[in-house]
Amino acid sequence: MGKPTGFMEFPREIPADRAPTERIKDWQELHLHFPDEKLKQQGARCMDCGIPFCHTGTLLSGMAAGCPINNLIPEWNDLIYRGLWRQALDRLHKTNNFPEFTGRVCPAPCEGSCTLGINEPPVTIKNIEYSIIEKAYENGWIAPRPPQNRTGKTVAVVGSGPAGLACADQLNRAGHTVTVFERADRIGGLLMYGIPNMKLDKKVVQRRLDLMAAEGVNFVTNTEVGTDYPADRLLEEYDAVVLAGGATKPRDLPVPGRELDGIHFAMDFLRPNTQTLLDGAPSDGYISAAGKDVIIIGGGDTGTDCVGTSLRQGCNSVIQFEILDRPPDERQPDNPWPEWPKIFRVDYGQEEAAALQGRDPRYYAIMTKKFVGDENGRVKEIHTVDIEWVFNNGSRPAIQEIPGTEKVWPTQLVLLAMGFLGPEDTLLDKLGIERDARSNAKAEYGRFETSVPGVFAAGDMRRGQSLVVWAINEGRGAAREVDRYLMGETELP
Ligand SMILES: Cc1cc2nc3c(=O)[nH]c(=O)nc-3n(C[C@H](O)[C@H](O)[C@H](O)COP(=O)(O)OP(=O)(O)OC[C@H]3O[C@@H](n4cnc5c(N)ncnc54)[C@H](O)[C@@H]3O)c2cc1C
Ligand code: SF4
Repeated sequence: MGKPTGFMEFPREIPADRAPTERIKDWQELHLHFPDEKLKQQGARCMDCGIPFCHTGTLLSGMAAGCPINNLIPEWNDLIYRGLWRQALDRLHKTNNFPEFTGRVCPAPCEGSCTLGINEPPVTIKNIEYSIIEKAYENGWIAPRPPQNRTGKTVAVVGSGPAGLACADQLNRAGHTVTVFERADRIGGLLMYGIPNMKLDKKVVQRRLDLMAAEGVNFVTNTEVGTDYPADRLLEEYDAVVLAGGATKPRDLPVPGRELDGIHFAMDFLRPNTQTLLDGAPSDGYISAAGKDVIIIGGGDTGTDCVGTSLRQGCNSVIQFEILDRPPDERQPDNPWPEWPKIFRVDYGQEEAAALQGRDPRYYAIMTKKFVGDENGRVKEIHTVDIEWVFNNGSRPAIQEIPGTEKVWPTQLVLLAMGFLGPEDTLLDKLGIERDARSNAKAEYGRFETSVPGVFAAGDMRRGQSLVVWAINEGRGAAREVDRYLMGETELP
Protein backbone atom coordinates (compact mmCIF):
# COMPACT_ATOMS: atom_id res chain seq x y z
CA MET A 1 0.00 0.00 0.00
CA GLY A 2 1.65 3.19 -1.24
CA LYS A 3 0.14 5.81 1.00
CA PRO A 4 -1.69 4.65 4.13
CA THR A 5 -3.54 7.95 4.47
CA GLY A 6 -4.27 8.42 0.75
CA PHE A 7 -7.96 7.62 1.06
CA MET A 8 -8.35 10.37 3.67
CA GLU A 9 -6.34 12.97 1.76
CA PHE A 10 -7.59 12.69 -1.79
CA PRO A 11 -11.20 12.75 -3.02
CA ARG A 12 -12.26 10.51 -5.89
CA GLU A 13 -11.71 12.26 -9.19
CA ILE A 14 -12.24 11.01 -12.71
CA PRO A 15 -11.28 12.91 -15.85
CA ALA A 16 -14.10 15.00 -17.29
CA ASP A 17 -15.86 13.88 -20.44
CA ARG A 18 -15.94 16.19 -23.43
CA ALA A 19 -18.91 18.61 -23.23
CA PRO A 20 -22.08 16.83 -24.44
CA THR A 21 -23.09 19.57 -26.89
CA GLU A 22 -19.62 19.48 -28.44
CA ARG A 23 -19.06 15.74 -28.60
CA ILE A 24 -22.33 14.98 -30.38
CA LYS A 25 -20.88 16.81 -33.38
CA ASP A 26 -18.41 13.98 -34.02
CA TRP A 27 -17.80 10.27 -33.42
CA GLN A 28 -14.61 10.62 -31.36
CA GLU A 29 -14.30 9.05 -27.91
CA LEU A 30 -15.97 10.87 -25.02
CA HIS A 31 -13.34 10.76 -22.35
CA LEU A 32 -10.52 13.14 -21.53
CA HIS A 33 -7.47 11.96 -19.60
CA PHE A 34 -5.58 12.65 -16.40
CA PRO A 35 -1.91 13.55 -16.02
CA ASP A 36 0.29 11.08 -14.09
CA GLU A 37 0.25 13.14 -10.87
CA LYS A 38 -3.55 12.89 -10.60
CA LEU A 39 -3.48 9.18 -11.34
CA LYS A 40 -0.89 8.71 -8.64
CA GLN A 41 -3.22 10.36 -6.13
CA GLN A 42 -6.11 8.22 -7.23
CA GLY A 43 -3.98 5.08 -6.90
CA ALA A 44 -3.02 6.26 -3.41
CA ARG A 45 -6.69 6.12 -2.37
CA CYS A 46 -6.59 2.29 -2.48
CA MET A 47 -6.54 0.97 1.08
CA ASP A 48 -5.06 -2.44 0.14
CA CYS A 49 -7.73 -3.84 2.44
CA GLY A 50 -7.42 -7.30 3.98
CA ILE A 51 -9.94 -8.90 1.62
CA PRO A 52 -9.98 -6.96 -1.64
CA PHE A 53 -13.52 -7.67 -2.82
CA CYS A 54 -12.77 -5.57 -5.91
CA HIS A 55 -11.01 -8.50 -7.54
CA THR A 56 -13.17 -11.41 -6.37
CA GLY A 57 -15.55 -11.57 -9.35
CA THR A 58 -18.16 -13.63 -7.53
CA LEU A 59 -21.83 -13.63 -8.43
CA LEU A 60 -24.00 -12.09 -5.71
CA SER A 61 -27.77 -11.89 -6.32
CA GLY A 62 -27.11 -12.82 -9.95
CA MET A 63 -24.73 -9.89 -10.60
CA ALA A 64 -20.93 -9.74 -10.65
CA ALA A 65 -19.45 -8.38 -7.46
CA GLY A 66 -15.83 -7.52 -8.10
CA CYS A 67 -13.80 -7.96 -11.26
CA PRO A 68 -14.85 -11.05 -13.29
CA ILE A 69 -11.30 -11.57 -14.54
CA ASN A 70 -9.80 -11.11 -11.06
CA ASN A 71 -7.58 -8.19 -12.01
CA LEU A 72 -4.89 -7.66 -9.36
CA ILE A 73 -6.27 -4.24 -8.56
CA PRO A 74 -4.65 -3.33 -5.21
CA GLU A 75 -1.26 -4.36 -6.64
CA TRP A 76 -1.45 -2.04 -9.61
CA ASN A 77 -2.96 0.79 -7.60
CA ASP A 78 0.10 0.66 -5.38
CA LEU A 79 2.48 0.48 -8.36
CA ILE A 80 0.84 3.52 -9.95
CA TYR A 81 1.21 5.43 -6.71
CA ARG A 82 4.91 4.60 -6.79
CA GLY A 83 5.24 5.52 -10.47
CA LEU A 84 6.11 1.92 -11.51
CA TRP A 85 4.01 1.85 -14.67
CA ARG A 86 5.83 -0.95 -16.45
CA GLN A 87 5.41 -3.27 -13.46
CA ALA A 88 1.74 -2.27 -13.25
CA LEU A 89 1.35 -3.30 -16.89
CA ASP A 90 2.88 -6.72 -16.19
CA ARG A 91 0.38 -7.26 -13.36
CA LEU A 92 -2.50 -6.12 -15.53
CA HIS A 93 -1.60 -8.45 -18.40
CA LYS A 94 -1.49 -11.44 -16.06
CA THR A 95 -5.30 -11.42 -15.88
CA ASN A 96 -6.55 -9.28 -18.75
CA ASN A 97 -5.73 -9.75 -22.43
CA PHE A 98 -7.46 -6.52 -23.45
CA PRO A 99 -7.35 -3.80 -20.77
CA GLU A 100 -7.85 -1.15 -23.46
CA PHE A 101 -11.36 -2.53 -24.04
CA THR A 102 -12.41 -3.02 -20.42
CA GLY A 103 -10.74 0.26 -19.41
CA ARG A 104 -13.17 1.97 -21.80
CA VAL A 105 -16.42 -0.01 -21.76
CA CYS A 106 -16.56 -2.09 -18.59
CA PRO A 107 -19.32 -1.02 -16.16
CA ALA A 108 -16.70 -1.65 -13.45
CA PRO A 109 -18.29 -4.05 -10.99
CA CYS A 110 -14.91 -3.78 -9.22
CA GLU A 111 -15.78 -0.27 -8.11
CA GLY A 112 -19.18 -1.44 -6.83
CA SER A 113 -17.40 -3.70 -4.35
CA CYS A 114 -14.41 -1.51 -3.45
CA THR A 115 -14.14 -1.44 0.35
CA LEU A 116 -13.66 2.30 0.35
CA GLY A 117 -17.07 2.45 -1.33
CA ILE A 118 -18.80 1.42 1.88
CA ASN A 119 -18.75 5.00 3.14
CA GLU A 120 -16.76 7.00 0.54
CA PRO A 121 -16.71 7.13 -3.27
CA PRO A 122 -14.72 4.08 -4.48
CA VAL A 123 -11.25 4.06 -6.04
CA THR A 124 -11.26 4.97 -9.77
CA ILE A 125 -10.16 1.48 -10.77
CA LYS A 126 -11.40 1.51 -14.36
CA ASN A 127 -9.68 4.79 -15.19
CA ILE A 128 -6.41 3.55 -13.73
CA GLU A 129 -6.69 0.37 -15.80
CA TYR A 130 -7.24 2.47 -18.92
CA SER A 131 -4.27 4.71 -18.11
CA ILE A 132 -1.87 1.80 -17.56
CA ILE A 133 -2.54 0.22 -20.93
CA GLU A 134 -2.59 3.47 -22.87
CA LYS A 135 0.73 4.55 -21.35
CA ALA A 136 2.12 1.16 -22.33
CA TYR A 137 1.09 1.65 -25.96
CA GLU A 138 2.44 5.22 -25.95
CA ASN A 139 5.80 4.06 -24.63
CA GLY A 140 6.10 1.18 -27.09
CA TRP A 141 5.92 -1.46 -24.37
CA ILE A 142 3.33 -3.42 -26.28
CA ALA A 143 5.06 -5.28 -29.08
CA PRO A 144 4.31 -8.61 -30.78
CA ARG A 145 5.48 -11.61 -28.74
CA PRO A 146 4.91 -14.70 -30.89
CA PRO A 147 5.27 -18.03 -29.07
CA GLN A 148 8.75 -19.53 -29.21
CA ASN A 149 7.53 -23.04 -30.02
CA ARG A 150 4.52 -24.36 -31.87
CA THR A 151 2.74 -27.50 -30.64
CA GLY A 152 1.55 -28.62 -34.07
CA LYS A 153 -2.07 -28.58 -32.80
CA THR A 154 -4.72 -26.53 -34.60
CA VAL A 155 -7.75 -24.79 -33.11
CA ALA A 156 -10.66 -23.09 -34.87
CA VAL A 157 -12.42 -20.29 -33.01
CA VAL A 158 -15.81 -19.33 -34.44
CA GLY A 159 -16.68 -15.71 -33.69
CA SER A 160 -14.26 -12.83 -33.17
CA GLY A 161 -15.82 -10.93 -30.26
CA PRO A 162 -13.96 -10.53 -26.97
CA ALA A 163 -14.57 -14.18 -26.02
CA GLY A 164 -13.15 -15.56 -29.27
CA LEU A 165 -10.26 -13.08 -29.24
CA ALA A 166 -9.27 -13.76 -25.62
CA CYS A 167 -9.42 -17.50 -26.31
CA ALA A 168 -7.35 -17.16 -29.48
CA ASP A 169 -4.78 -14.98 -27.71
CA GLN A 170 -4.30 -17.48 -24.90
CA LEU A 171 -4.14 -20.52 -27.17
CA ASN A 172 -1.66 -18.80 -29.45
CA ARG A 173 0.54 -18.00 -26.46
CA ALA A 174 0.42 -21.70 -25.57
CA GLY A 175 1.85 -22.44 -29.03
CA HIS A 176 -1.24 -23.76 -30.81
CA THR A 177 -2.05 -22.59 -34.33
CA VAL A 178 -5.31 -20.68 -34.09
CA THR A 179 -7.69 -19.60 -36.84
CA VAL A 180 -10.55 -17.24 -35.98
CA PHE A 181 -13.57 -17.35 -38.31
CA GLU A 182 -15.84 -14.32 -38.53
CA ARG A 183 -18.85 -13.85 -40.78
CA ALA A 184 -18.64 -10.05 -40.74
CA ASP A 185 -16.22 -8.17 -42.97
CA ARG A 186 -14.20 -7.05 -39.96
CA ILE A 187 -12.91 -8.85 -36.88
CA GLY A 188 -14.04 -7.81 -33.39
CA GLY A 189 -17.65 -8.95 -32.85
CA LEU A 190 -19.57 -6.40 -30.82
CA LEU A 191 -16.34 -4.55 -30.06
CA MET A 192 -16.28 -3.60 -33.74
CA TYR A 193 -19.91 -3.54 -34.82
CA GLY A 194 -21.92 -3.18 -31.58
CA ILE A 195 -20.35 -0.72 -29.15
CA PRO A 196 -20.24 2.63 -30.99
CA ASN A 197 -17.09 4.61 -31.80
CA MET A 198 -17.62 7.26 -29.14
CA LYS A 199 -17.27 4.59 -26.45
CA LEU A 200 -14.65 2.49 -28.18
CA ASP A 201 -12.73 3.89 -31.13
CA LYS A 202 -12.32 1.21 -33.78
CA LYS A 203 -8.65 2.12 -34.19
CA VAL A 204 -8.19 0.84 -30.65
CA VAL A 205 -9.74 -2.49 -31.64
CA GLN A 206 -7.68 -2.68 -34.81
CA ARG A 207 -4.48 -1.92 -32.89
CA ARG A 208 -4.96 -5.08 -30.82
CA LEU A 209 -5.99 -7.16 -33.84
CA ASP A 210 -2.83 -6.14 -35.70
CA LEU A 211 -0.80 -7.20 -32.70
CA MET A 212 -2.50 -10.60 -32.54
CA ALA A 213 -2.02 -11.12 -36.27
CA ALA A 214 1.68 -10.26 -35.89
CA GLU A 215 1.87 -12.87 -33.13
CA GLY A 216 0.53 -15.53 -35.48
CA VAL A 217 -3.26 -15.68 -35.03
CA ASN A 218 -5.00 -16.27 -38.38
CA PHE A 219 -8.15 -14.26 -39.06
CA VAL A 220 -10.69 -15.28 -41.69
CA THR A 221 -13.50 -12.79 -42.38
CA ASN A 222 -16.69 -12.93 -44.48
CA THR A 223 -17.05 -16.62 -43.58
CA GLU A 224 -20.07 -17.92 -41.72
CA VAL A 225 -19.34 -21.32 -40.27
CA GLY A 226 -22.32 -23.61 -40.87
CA THR A 227 -23.18 -21.80 -44.12
CA ASP A 228 -20.11 -20.66 -46.09
CA TYR A 229 -17.86 -23.16 -44.35
CA PRO A 230 -19.44 -26.54 -43.51
CA ALA A 231 -19.53 -27.18 -39.76
CA ASP A 232 -18.45 -30.84 -40.09
CA ARG A 233 -15.42 -29.78 -42.14
CA LEU A 234 -14.32 -27.71 -39.18
CA LEU A 235 -14.41 -30.79 -36.97
CA GLU A 236 -12.35 -32.75 -39.49
CA GLU A 237 -9.74 -30.07 -40.11
CA TYR A 238 -9.04 -28.82 -36.59
CA ASP A 239 -7.94 -30.59 -33.42
CA ALA A 240 -10.38 -28.54 -31.33
CA VAL A 241 -13.13 -26.01 -31.95
CA VAL A 242 -14.31 -23.11 -29.78
CA LEU A 243 -17.75 -21.62 -30.42
CA ALA A 244 -17.87 -17.93 -29.51
CA GLY A 245 -20.63 -16.72 -31.81
CA GLY A 246 -22.37 -14.43 -29.30
CA ALA A 247 -26.06 -14.16 -28.41
CA THR A 248 -27.43 -12.15 -31.26
CA LYS A 249 -31.15 -13.08 -31.39
CA PRO A 250 -33.00 -9.85 -30.48
CA ARG A 251 -36.14 -9.76 -28.33
CA ASP A 252 -39.11 -8.58 -30.43
CA LEU A 253 -42.21 -6.59 -29.48
CA PRO A 254 -45.18 -8.37 -31.06
CA VAL A 255 -47.82 -5.66 -30.70
CA PRO A 256 -50.20 -4.41 -33.43
CA GLY A 257 -48.37 -2.40 -36.10
CA ARG A 258 -45.01 -4.11 -35.57
CA GLU A 259 -44.78 -4.77 -39.34
CA LEU A 260 -44.76 -1.04 -40.22
CA ASP A 261 -41.77 0.53 -41.94
CA GLY A 262 -39.49 2.51 -39.67
CA ILE A 263 -39.42 -0.01 -36.79
CA HIS A 264 -36.04 -1.71 -36.46
CA PHE A 265 -33.98 -3.78 -34.08
CA ALA A 266 -31.26 -1.70 -32.43
CA MET A 267 -28.41 -3.69 -33.97
CA ASP A 268 -29.84 -3.15 -37.47
CA PHE A 269 -29.38 0.57 -36.75
CA LEU A 270 -26.03 0.48 -34.93
CA ARG A 271 -24.14 -2.01 -37.11
CA PRO A 272 -24.50 -0.24 -40.50
CA ASN A 273 -23.84 3.10 -38.81
CA THR A 274 -20.41 1.93 -37.65
CA GLN A 275 -19.75 0.27 -40.97
CA THR A 276 -20.60 3.48 -42.79
CA LEU A 277 -18.17 5.42 -40.61
CA LEU A 278 -15.42 2.89 -41.19
CA ASP A 279 -15.99 2.53 -44.93
CA GLY A 280 -16.50 6.25 -45.49
CA ALA A 281 -19.57 5.50 -47.63
CA PRO A 282 -23.15 4.47 -46.76
CA SER A 283 -23.24 0.74 -46.13
CA ASP A 284 -26.09 -1.62 -47.06
CA GLY A 285 -29.03 -1.22 -44.72
CA TYR A 286 -27.92 2.18 -43.33
CA ILE A 287 -30.80 3.70 -41.35
CA SER A 288 -30.77 7.45 -40.79
CA ALA A 289 -32.27 9.17 -37.77
CA ALA A 290 -31.62 12.62 -39.28
CA GLY A 291 -34.56 14.96 -38.79
CA LYS A 292 -36.68 12.24 -37.14
CA ASP A 293 -38.39 11.91 -33.80
CA VAL A 294 -36.77 8.73 -32.55
CA ILE A 295 -38.26 6.49 -29.90
CA ILE A 296 -36.09 3.79 -28.40
CA ILE A 297 -37.83 0.98 -26.59
CA GLY A 298 -35.51 -0.40 -23.92
CA GLY A 299 -33.65 1.50 -21.24
CA GLY A 300 -30.39 -0.51 -21.14
CA ASP A 301 -26.93 0.01 -22.60
CA THR A 302 -27.93 -0.85 -26.16
CA GLY A 303 -30.71 1.73 -25.88
CA THR A 304 -28.17 4.29 -24.66
CA ASP A 305 -25.98 3.61 -27.68
CA CYS A 306 -29.02 4.19 -29.91
CA VAL A 307 -29.61 7.55 -28.15
CA GLY A 308 -25.99 8.65 -28.69
CA THR A 309 -26.02 7.48 -32.32
CA SER A 310 -29.37 9.15 -33.12
CA LEU A 311 -28.13 12.45 -31.71
CA ARG A 312 -24.93 12.30 -33.75
CA GLN A 313 -26.92 11.53 -36.88
CA GLY A 314 -28.95 14.70 -36.25
CA CYS A 315 -32.33 13.41 -35.06
CA ASN A 316 -35.06 15.94 -34.31
CA SER A 317 -35.76 14.44 -30.87
CA VAL A 318 -35.05 11.24 -28.98
CA ILE A 319 -36.83 9.52 -26.11
CA GLN A 320 -36.39 6.16 -24.47
CA PHE A 321 -39.04 3.92 -22.89
CA GLU A 322 -38.27 1.51 -20.07
CA ILE A 323 -40.86 -0.93 -18.77
CA LEU A 324 -39.20 -1.25 -15.36
CA ASP A 325 -39.47 1.28 -12.54
CA ARG A 326 -36.86 4.02 -12.23
CA PRO A 327 -34.06 2.63 -10.02
CA PRO A 328 -33.49 4.30 -6.64
CA ASP A 329 -30.80 6.97 -6.24
CA GLU A 330 -29.11 5.10 -3.40
CA ARG A 331 -28.50 1.43 -2.61
CA GLN A 332 -31.53 -0.19 -0.98
CA PRO A 333 -31.31 -2.47 2.09
CA ASP A 334 -31.77 -5.56 -0.12
CA ASN A 335 -28.81 -4.50 -2.31
CA PRO A 336 -25.95 -4.06 0.18
CA TRP A 337 -22.24 -3.62 -0.52
CA PRO A 338 -20.37 -5.51 -2.07
CA GLU A 339 -23.20 -6.29 -4.50
CA TRP A 340 -23.37 -4.36 -7.76
CA PRO A 341 -25.30 -1.18 -6.84
CA LYS A 342 -28.67 -1.22 -8.61
CA ILE A 343 -29.08 2.54 -8.68
CA PHE A 344 -30.15 5.24 -11.11
CA ARG A 345 -27.30 6.19 -13.45
CA VAL A 346 -26.97 8.74 -16.20
CA ASP A 347 -24.95 7.32 -19.06
CA TYR A 348 -23.38 9.31 -21.89
CA GLY A 349 -26.40 9.15 -24.21
CA GLN A 350 -28.82 10.39 -21.58
CA GLU A 351 -26.42 13.17 -20.61
CA GLU A 352 -26.22 14.29 -24.23
CA ALA A 353 -29.99 14.14 -24.77
CA ALA A 354 -30.57 16.09 -21.56
CA ALA A 355 -28.06 18.77 -22.63
CA LEU A 356 -29.85 19.18 -25.94
CA GLN A 357 -33.47 18.61 -25.03
CA GLY A 358 -33.54 19.88 -21.46
CA ARG A 359 -34.55 16.57 -19.85
CA ASP A 360 -33.39 13.02 -19.45
CA PRO A 361 -34.84 11.08 -22.41
CA ARG A 362 -36.04 8.14 -20.31
CA TYR A 363 -39.63 7.39 -19.32
CA TYR A 364 -40.03 4.59 -16.81
CA ALA A 365 -42.82 2.09 -16.12
CA ILE A 366 -44.32 2.64 -19.55
CA MET A 367 -45.61 -0.04 -21.92
CA THR A 368 -46.11 0.08 -25.69
CA LYS A 369 -49.61 -1.01 -26.70
CA LYS A 370 -49.43 -0.51 -30.47
CA PHE A 371 -47.73 1.20 -33.39
CA VAL A 372 -49.83 3.21 -35.84
CA GLY A 373 -48.76 3.96 -39.42
CA ASP A 374 -49.51 6.51 -42.13
CA GLU A 375 -51.09 5.81 -45.51
CA ASN A 376 -47.71 4.63 -46.85
CA GLY A 377 -47.26 2.00 -44.16
CA ARG A 378 -44.65 3.99 -42.22
CA VAL A 379 -44.82 4.24 -38.47
CA LYS A 380 -46.16 7.62 -37.29
CA GLU A 381 -47.09 7.05 -33.64
CA ILE A 382 -46.67 4.83 -30.62
CA HIS A 383 -49.55 4.32 -28.18
CA THR A 384 -48.51 3.66 -24.60
CA VAL A 385 -49.91 3.22 -21.14
CA ASP A 386 -48.21 3.67 -17.78
CA ILE A 387 -47.92 0.54 -15.70
CA GLU A 388 -47.43 -0.59 -12.14
CA TRP A 389 -45.53 -3.66 -11.03
CA VAL A 390 -47.62 -5.77 -8.66
CA PHE A 391 -45.73 -8.06 -6.30
CA ASN A 392 -47.85 -10.96 -5.05
CA ASN A 393 -46.38 -13.26 -2.44
CA GLY A 394 -44.24 -15.92 -4.04
CA SER A 395 -45.27 -15.32 -7.65
CA ARG A 396 -43.47 -13.39 -10.36
CA PRO A 397 -44.19 -9.65 -10.44
CA ALA A 398 -47.14 -8.83 -12.71
CA ILE A 399 -47.83 -5.78 -14.87
CA GLN A 400 -50.94 -3.75 -14.14
CA GLU A 401 -51.96 -0.96 -16.51
CA ILE A 402 -52.93 2.35 -14.91
CA PRO A 403 -56.25 3.53 -16.39
CA GLY A 404 -56.29 7.06 -17.79
CA THR A 405 -52.52 7.14 -18.54
CA GLU A 406 -52.80 6.27 -22.25
CA LYS A 407 -50.61 8.50 -24.45
CA VAL A 408 -49.82 8.91 -28.13
CA TRP A 409 -46.23 9.76 -29.15
CA PRO A 410 -45.39 10.95 -32.67
CA THR A 411 -42.39 9.17 -34.20
CA GLN A 412 -40.83 8.34 -37.55
CA LEU A 413 -38.18 5.91 -36.29
CA VAL A 414 -38.56 3.26 -33.59
CA LEU A 415 -35.60 1.24 -32.34
CA LEU A 416 -36.17 -1.95 -30.37
CA ALA A 417 -33.46 -2.41 -27.75
CA MET A 418 -35.06 -4.87 -25.36
CA GLY A 419 -32.22 -7.32 -24.98
CA PHE A 420 -31.26 -10.58 -26.61
CA LEU A 421 -32.80 -14.03 -26.37
CA GLY A 422 -29.75 -16.19 -27.02
CA PRO A 423 -27.53 -17.53 -29.77
CA GLU A 424 -28.64 -18.17 -33.33
CA ASP A 425 -29.55 -21.76 -34.15
CA THR A 426 -27.80 -22.62 -37.43
CA LEU A 427 -24.29 -23.34 -36.23
CA LEU A 428 -25.32 -25.05 -32.98
CA ASP A 429 -27.90 -27.21 -34.74
CA LYS A 430 -25.51 -28.23 -37.51
CA LEU A 431 -22.95 -29.33 -34.94
CA GLY A 432 -25.63 -31.05 -32.82
CA ILE A 433 -24.73 -29.05 -29.69
CA GLU A 434 -27.01 -29.59 -26.69
CA ARG A 435 -28.67 -26.41 -25.35
CA ASP A 436 -29.44 -25.27 -21.83
CA ALA A 437 -32.87 -24.12 -20.63
CA ARG A 438 -32.23 -20.62 -22.04
CA SER A 439 -31.21 -21.97 -25.48
CA ASN A 440 -27.51 -21.18 -24.94
CA ALA A 441 -24.82 -23.71 -25.88
CA LYS A 442 -24.73 -26.11 -22.93
CA ALA A 443 -21.23 -26.27 -21.43
CA GLU A 444 -20.48 -26.24 -17.73
CA TYR A 445 -18.82 -23.01 -16.54
CA GLY A 446 -15.18 -23.80 -15.79
CA ARG A 447 -15.10 -26.77 -18.18
CA PHE A 448 -16.58 -25.07 -21.24
CA GLU A 449 -16.82 -28.35 -23.23
CA THR A 450 -20.10 -28.90 -25.07
CA SER A 451 -21.95 -32.16 -25.62
CA VAL A 452 -19.74 -32.75 -28.68
CA PRO A 453 -16.22 -33.87 -27.67
CA GLY A 454 -13.52 -31.44 -28.68
CA VAL A 455 -16.02 -28.59 -29.17
CA PHE A 456 -16.01 -25.86 -26.53
CA ALA A 457 -18.25 -22.81 -26.05
CA ALA A 458 -17.52 -19.43 -24.46
CA GLY A 459 -18.88 -15.93 -24.04
CA ASP A 460 -22.42 -14.82 -24.81
CA MET A 461 -23.04 -18.01 -26.83
CA ARG A 462 -22.65 -19.97 -23.58
CA ARG A 463 -23.86 -17.53 -20.90
CA GLY A 464 -26.31 -15.31 -22.84
CA GLN A 465 -25.81 -11.60 -23.61
CA SER A 466 -23.49 -10.25 -20.95
CA LEU A 467 -20.42 -8.03 -20.72
CA VAL A 468 -17.07 -7.72 -22.45
CA VAL A 469 -15.29 -8.58 -19.20
CA TRP A 470 -17.25 -11.83 -18.83
CA ALA A 471 -16.52 -12.69 -22.46
CA ILE A 472 -12.80 -12.27 -21.74
CA ASN A 473 -13.14 -14.41 -18.61
CA GLU A 474 -14.86 -17.17 -20.59
CA GLY A 475 -12.48 -16.98 -23.54
CA ARG A 476 -9.53 -17.41 -21.20
CA GLY A 477 -11.22 -20.27 -19.36
CA ALA A 478 -12.13 -22.07 -22.59
CA ALA A 479 -8.53 -21.68 -23.82
CA ARG A 480 -7.25 -23.32 -20.63
CA GLU A 481 -9.62 -26.28 -21.11
CA VAL A 482 -8.79 -26.62 -24.81
CA ASP A 483 -5.10 -26.67 -23.94
CA ARG A 484 -5.75 -29.38 -21.35
CA TYR A 485 -7.81 -31.35 -23.90
CA LEU A 486 -5.05 -31.13 -26.52
CA MET A 487 -1.98 -31.62 -24.32
CA GLY A 488 -3.28 -33.63 -21.34
CA GLU A 489 -2.22 -30.82 -18.98
CA THR A 490 -2.12 -27.05 -19.03
CA GLU A 491 -0.26 -24.12 -17.56
CA LEU A 492 -2.74 -21.54 -18.80
CA PRO A 493 -4.49 -19.65 -15.94
C1 LIG B 1 -25.03 -2.36 -28.63
C2 LIG B 1 -24.28 -3.08 -27.55
C3 LIG B 1 -23.50 -2.35 -26.69
C4 LIG B 1 -22.80 -3.00 -25.68
N1 LIG B 1 -22.05 -2.24 -24.83
C5 LIG B 1 -21.32 -2.87 -23.88
C6 LIG B 1 -20.49 -2.12 -23.01
O1 LIG B 1 -20.43 -0.89 -23.09
N2 LIG B 1 -19.75 -2.79 -22.08
C7 LIG B 1 -19.78 -4.15 -21.98
O2 LIG B 1 -19.07 -4.71 -21.13
N3 LIG B 1 -20.59 -4.89 -22.78
C8 LIG B 1 -21.34 -4.28 -23.72
N4 LIG B 1 -22.15 -5.03 -24.54
C9 LIG B 1 -22.13 -6.50 -24.41
C10 LIG B 1 -20.85 -7.09 -25.03
O3 LIG B 1 -20.54 -6.43 -26.23
C11 LIG B 1 -21.00 -8.59 -25.24
O4 LIG B 1 -21.34 -9.20 -24.02
C12 LIG B 1 -19.69 -9.19 -25.76
O5 LIG B 1 -19.27 -8.57 -26.95
C13 LIG B 1 -19.86 -10.69 -25.99
O6 LIG B 1 -18.70 -11.19 -26.57
P1 LIG B 1 -18.70 -12.54 -27.42
O7 LIG B 1 -17.31 -12.69 -27.90
O8 LIG B 1 -19.30 -13.63 -26.64
O9 LIG B 1 -19.69 -12.28 -28.65
P2 LIG B 1 -19.81 -11.13 -29.75
O10 LIG B 1 -19.07 -9.90 -29.38
O11 LIG B 1 -21.27 -11.00 -30.00
O12 LIG B 1 -19.10 -11.73 -31.04
C14 LIG B 1 -19.62 -12.87 -31.68
C15 LIG B 1 -19.15 -12.85 -33.13
O13 LIG B 1 -19.40 -14.13 -33.70
C16 LIG B 1 -19.76 -13.95 -35.04
N5 LIG B 1 -20.46 -15.15 -35.49
C17 LIG B 1 -21.63 -15.64 -35.01
N6 LIG B 1 -21.93 -16.80 -35.64
C18 LIG B 1 -20.93 -17.03 -36.52
C19 LIG B 1 -20.69 -18.07 -37.45
N7 LIG B 1 -21.53 -19.09 -37.59
N8 LIG B 1 -19.56 -18.00 -38.21
C20 LIG B 1 -18.69 -16.96 -38.08
N9 LIG B 1 -18.88 -15.95 -37.20
C21 LIG B 1 -19.99 -15.99 -36.43
C22 LIG B 1 -20.62 -12.72 -35.01
O14 LIG B 1 -20.68 -12.11 -36.29
C23 LIG B 1 -19.89 -11.86 -34.00
O15 LIG B 1 -18.96 -11.01 -34.64
C24 LIG B 1 -22.89 -4.40 -25.54
C25 LIG B 1 -23.70 -5.14 -26.41
C26 LIG B 1 -24.40 -4.48 -27.41
C27 LIG B 1 -25.29 -5.28 -28.32
S1 SF4 C 1 -12.13 -5.29 -16.09
FE1 SF4 C 1 -13.93 -4.16 -15.34
S2 SF4 C 1 -14.31 -5.07 -13.33
FE2 SF4 C 1 -12.20 -5.66 -13.90
S3 SF4 C 1 -10.87 -4.04 -13.02
FE3 SF4 C 1 -11.35 -3.43 -15.12
S4 SF4 C 1 -13.14 -2.08 -14.92
FE4 SF4 C 1 -12.98 -3.26 -13.03
